[in-house]
Amino acid sequence: MATTKAIKTIGVLTSGGDAPGMNAAIRAVTRSAIFNGFKVKGIYRGYKGLVNNEIVDFKTYHVSNIIHHGGTILKTARCSEFKTAEGRQQAYKNLKKNGIDALVVIGGDGTLSGAKQFASEYDIPIVGLPGTIDNDLYGTDHTIGYDTALNTIMWCVDRIRDTAASHERLFFIEVMGREAGFLALNGALACGAEAAIIPEISIEQDQLAELIQNGFRESKGSAIVLVAESPVTGGAMGLAERVRKEYPQYDVRVTILGHLQRGGSPTAMDRILASRMGAAAIDALLEGQRNIMIGDDDERIVYVPFSKAIRQNKPIDRDLLETLKRLSL
Ligand code: ADP
Repeated sequence: MATTKAIKTIGVLTSGGDAPGMNAAIRAVTRSAIFNGFKVKGIYRGYKGLVNNEIVDFKTYHVSNIIHHGGTILKTARCSEFKTAEGRQQAYKNLKKNGIDALVVIGGDGTLSGAKQFASEYDIPIVGLPGTIDNDLYGTDHTIGYDTALNTIMWCVDRIRDTAASHERLFFIEVMGREAGFLALNGALACGAEAAIIPEISIEQDQLAELIQNGFRESKGSAIVLVAESPVTGGAMGLAERVRKEYPQYDVRVTILGHLQRGGSPTAMDRILASRMGAAAIDALLEGQRNIMIGDDDERIVYVPFSKAIRQNKPIDRDLLETLKRLSL
């Protein structure tokens, strides 16, 4: 087993879906590693760059002037080769070739699944940082990028509200979130929306029928409903189709926010979270930790085993749904 003493050079990569704050995380990992006497190598395009040997020396200046930029200076990609044993073998050869003794990977569920698989086959300490706008990783209250995405959603919905109110329309606004309704639910609260249609609830009950039966029209002329993109909810298009067929009295419109939600300058919350987590990743390696994700639990840094971070579904707070209902009378 590689020990902490053996670590001289740390590789850092961003992988999967990009999230605002990834640059702040790269900066924190790089600077904290250099502060602690490690060498740093930047790996471009996530696991793809590891397989294709797109690896460069990183000095402190490589991460100058990036904390306020969205996206990732290391680029990101999806890499099917890394899902194969041959691909991972090639990746390991490149790590050795570049003298990399430990890895910090920044990404979502898929990135951490890849890290777990890689670490089970090769002797390389890996620490993960939760970088995803979805906030769907277990063991951390917040993921890097989530707060910025929520603020972007709020900015967009505030504008849609003006036209929805003027035309007295029902608007379904689709937000990202795959199988998780965090963006839709908390976005709905932040925007004062009438409802959030999220996979965690839609799986059990017909949220659309409930919304209509609750008669949101009794007290207001227009309505904003945030919908998670998941196939469980039917997405905004699917729901609008249903309204046109089942409730033709409503004038329904759809807006899909799409990739707008991924971009933009990270909020203060995301920059702070990314900075704390990036520094914590290096602390974890110094302590001899491996195969863990850095999480935040009530503002405290915690270490979450990969298996836990990716396997368990993070529960939504159902009280928030109740609050949303109460406030949308
Ligand atoms: P995210 O990290 O945002 O969830 P993806 O799900 O696209 O993004 O995963 C990013 C990359 O992680 C994939 O392109 C693949 O290279 C790698 N990966 C995902 N799951 C696995 C796995 N089970 N084994 C090996 N690599 C994986």
